Amino acid sequence: MELLELLASCIEQGRTAIAPTLVGPLERERLDRLQRLGAMTFMPAQVIFCPHCEIRTVRVIAVGSGFCIDCGLVNLTTKDTQRLAPDGDWLRRRMAQALDLVGEPAWTLIPDRVWRLGDLGRADRRHRVLFGQRLADIMVLRALLSAWPSYVGEIPTILVTTTQPERVFLPGVQVRSVPLAAAFRVRGDGLVADEAVWTGVRAAQTALPVQARVGPFTQDFRAIFLPGETAPVALTPTQSALLRVLWELSGERIERQALLRRARVDLDKPIVAFPQSKYPQAHRVYRAVVRSNQQGQYWWAHEALGVAPGAAD
Ligand SMILES: [Zn+2]
Repeated sequence: MELLELLASCIEQGRTAIAPTLVGPLERERLDRLQRLGAMTFMPAQVIFCPHCEIRTVRVIAVGSGFCIDCGLVNLTTKDTQRLAPDGDWLRRRMAQALDLVGEPAWTLIPDRVWRLGDLGRADRRHRVLFGQRLADIMVLRALLSAWPSYVGEIPTILVTTTQPERVFLPGVQVRSVPLAAAFRVRGDGLVADEAVWTGVRAAQTALPVQARVGPFTQDFRAIFLPGETAPVALTPTQSALLRVLWELSGERIERQALLRRARVDLDKPIVAFPQSKYPQAHRVYRAVVRSNQQGQYWWAHEALGVAPGAAD
């Protein structure tokens, strides 16, 4: 199971958090990874399986003790009562970052179920982005539909959800449900937006006139202009981070590992972030501005751009 699918299934399980001792090694490894990312955190559990009989459930009545119908009072270690649980704030923050919605705090539409992450695009091309969890509940869907006219209205909406989309029945409103694992992928210590899902939605943003530039980049480093071209090429956060490090080195060479470390990306090689099939435009940028040699050194090909390296304007 992919990391975000696992996270989604943990969220869908609701109150049932995961005891690290109860999962297999492969799942354990993925949970560890989610925990290192910050997507899952350890929390004290209220109810656990009895560590003695392993059949009954035990309510934790105080730190270090619980009561089992068969075994009576049982002593519980911290390890017995620790559960990994998804951190919803982390997820909503990272989704907003991946979509460049960081200026707009997510706000709640339906408590603990549906949030508005923000709007993408502008004017008539605008899309509203919602996140919903545990939606396979008719009462929740009804509440969402009744809140829709006031909080969403006629704006086309993308609902990123951890619930299986076929179970999210929202008749009469303009909404596309996208599973979490299809909308985003884990990259480095955050998420990136999946181009296939978001490109059309974000197109209106990329086409905005760009006022401020830093060298060949837009001010936020999320798009780059190649010489003689008027339309910028959009970059994912990972692509942007890699190119920015090289550009700021003004053509000085850097070892592969040092480059990946400074860009804070979790990849084997920089080129992996620029697959031709998926990001043909960004791949073209990579070929135009990045140079490397057999020794694993990388540098900015400043001769490829009409802009002096390191010069901010
Ligand atoms: Zn027991």
